[in-house]
Amino acid sequence: MKKKINVYFIILAVAAILLSILLSNVVSYTLLQKEVYADLAACAYALKGTDSFDDPQNITYEQSSQVYRITLVDTEGVVRYDSSADILELDSHLNRDEILKARKNGVGQAIRHSDTLQTDTYYYAILLDNGCVLRLAKEASSIVNIFVSSIPYLIGIILILILVSVLFSHILTRSIVSPIEQIAENINYIDTNKVYRELRPFVTMIKEQHESIVKNVEMRQEFSANVSHELKTPLTAISGYAEIIENGMASTEDTIRFSGEIHRNAKRLLGLINDTIRLSELDVSNIEVQREPLDLFALASSCVNTLKVKADKLNVSLRIVGEVCMINADKEMMYELVYNLCDNAIRYNNKDGSVLVLIGENSDGNKYIEVKDTGIGISKEHQERIFERFYRVDKSRSKETGGTGLGLAIVKHIVAQNHAQLRLESEVGKGTMILVTFPLDMNVLSEV
Ligand code: ADP
Repeated sequence: MKKKINVYFIILAVAAILLSILLSNVVSYTLLQKEVYADLAACAYALKGTDSFDDPQNITYEQSSQVYRITLVDTEGVVRYDSSADILELDSHLNRDEILKARKNGVGQAIRHSDTLQTDTYYYAILLDNGCVLRLAKEASSIVNIFVSSIPYLIGIILILILVSVLFSHILTRSIVSPIEQIAENINYIDTNKVYRELRPFVTMIKEQHESIVKNVEMRQEFSANVSHELKTPLTAISGYAEIIENGMASTEDTIRFSGEIHRNAKRLLGLINDTIRLSELDVSNIEVQREPLDLFALASSCVNTLKVKADKLNVSLRIVGEVCMINADKEMMYELVYNLCDNAIRYNNKDGSVLVLIGENSDGNKYIEVKDTGIGISKEHQERIFERFYRVDKSRSKETGGTGLGLAIVKHIVAQNHAQLRLESEVGKGTMILVTFPLDMNVLSEV
């Protein structure tokens, strides 16, 4: 690009130089012509003012210098006087251009070119009161001659100008390209105000993409660190209990207890691994969602049935309200969504609390899932963050109840993959409501 701009600048400069030289030559030649004619006219009228040519039979004029050639042509076209030629040898001048014009209009002018001498002869003729025409002539260099004689100077000037223009085009190109080069060097430190206006949308877009890539990488790094950390705790516990049993240091009673701990931690490990795998599957932006017409109410009911045992154990009542609700959706995703929301509503509930699952269609025709609990609630400052991976309000409660810290992150991904809307309302000590509303394009078109 730099090279191209540079070359264009040089071509432009050279063309401009040549054109201006050509034009200035034409202009100066035109001015020269005007000057010569003005000289000739002034002289002709001065001569007319004298009475030297009043009588063609008796011309009293005597030429003192040979600056102009003076000719007197009578009414018949016969040359009566010529300052630089023998009048007897001259033929009739009646048809000369300037003479014809002078006879007709009072004045006439003409230029005749001599190829051999490379000169132009300028003629200026005026009509005298006695009917004769007084003609003055002067030789001057032709435009070709002027041009040829100025060639050495022109070459010198052109060379200097080209040199200067090459230098300037180089400097100009650098000043044009350098802001773009700066952008390429480090997009992070670019002040958009200093960027070319035309490039601003482009730079802003690249900057945003760059920032999102960096953020993504950071998130992934943080996630990997978190996963390793989360895996380490149950593994350490399993290894510790197993070692005690292996060394025969545990009594039969302890062995049973330790085996239980190993089992619980192994289950936690499995849960963690499953959720991590699921999350990375859902993280792919162009994941294939296997949509099929399904009854959301039936699916949620079966999920509620599965969780009933857990709810009973914690003395939490679990209820589902709704009717057949057909939707075009991925079965697995919908199950996970209901499961995670209900599971949380049970685990973060109080003794004798309740969970209500509502499946239905709102006034706009959108299908929805609503999970309401009378649990511990979430304070405002945590509400925004609970959908982040491994973000927990109460870490120990989450772990005690078998939480992985990934449930709501999975919910958020499923919501995003389905272009659904998520609403959370919660008050500490009162309970939480999470509403997922599906877009209209997931509705099943009734068969005709
Ligand atoms: P976890 O496996 O820890 O439950 P989640 O991603 O499902 O992870 O939830 C993140 C955090 O949000 C939980 O640790 C909990 O503090 C809070 N939370 C989620 N659902 C509820 C709820 N229904 N009531 C109160 N707090 C909740």
